[in-house]
Amino acid sequence: LVRAEAVHKYFGDHHVLKGVDLDIAPGEVLCLLGPSGSGKSTFLRCINHLETIHSGQIWLGDETIGYRLQGTRLVERPEREIIRQRRSMGMVFQRFNLFPHRTALENVIEGPVQVKGENSRSAKERGTLLLERVGLGDKLHAYPRQLSGGQQQRVAIARALAMEPELMLFDEPTSALDPELVGEVLTVMKDLAATGLTMIVVTHEIGFAREVADRVAFMDGGRIVETGTPAEVLDAPRHDRTKAFLSRVL
Ligand code: ATP
Ligand code: MG
Repeated sequence: LVRAEAVHKYFGDHHVLKGVDLDIAPGEVLCLLGPSGSGKSTFLRCINHLETIHSGQIWLGDETIGYRLQGTRLVERPEREIIRQRRSMGMVFQRFNLFPHRTALENVIEGPVQVKGENSRSAKERGTLLLERVGLGDKLHAYPRQLSGGQQQRVAIARALAMEPELMLFDEPTSALDPELVGEVLTVMKDLAATGLTMIVVTHEIGFAREVADRVAFMDGGRIVETGTPAEVLDAPRHDRTKAFLSRVL
């Protein structure tokens, strides 16, 4: 479903992604691990074209993200195509970014109603089901400030799902949470994984990666250093850098 080929990205003369190759099959859950500054967030942002890339290509299905071939040159797609492509991906960040003056349900239906033009009754019905699915059926009308961090993050997940994405991107969704709230968010993500949704999850939660990931990729210095099943990468890493990283976090 997603394929990155030799993706390079610079910020000025800082070479941040140095040829990232990655393949994710439909329904697969890939956990992306790696030290701070290795380029994990930048790579996720390139997948939904929040960042431009310098060279290489990223495919979603049979389309190249952000760019298309014109003759032999890659040119940036028109804004409306970029928006359409971005809509097929849901993104959940470390910070939840909910609208503070809207209730949980209003946050969830905002995209479907404003962006997709869904009628508000059907959006509310779907939004209610989604909030029930993330365990917040009793918080439909609560405002973000009345919710815990874990609950807010679950609203953020429901909001992303409301757009019916083909792919979900998670960037350290639990790292801003108090430790006792991490589990409830991971449980929701685990349930989503079980529904067959394709997910790329940047996380430091090794237990989650071990239990839920189909594959684990380890990134260091702007490259994917190794990928494999959780058992391969977490229990029998081949690269010294992966070993060193795991010995610090495990
Ligand atoms: P962390 O685990 O801390 O979130 P990361 O693997 O997500 O790290 P990135 O945020 O992708 O790392 O950053 C990779 C490198 O790119 C870092 O050196 C960072 O300073 C740099 N970088 C990221 N965003 C920008 C930007 N907008 N402008 C300039 N440099 C940036
Ligand atoms: Mg990051």
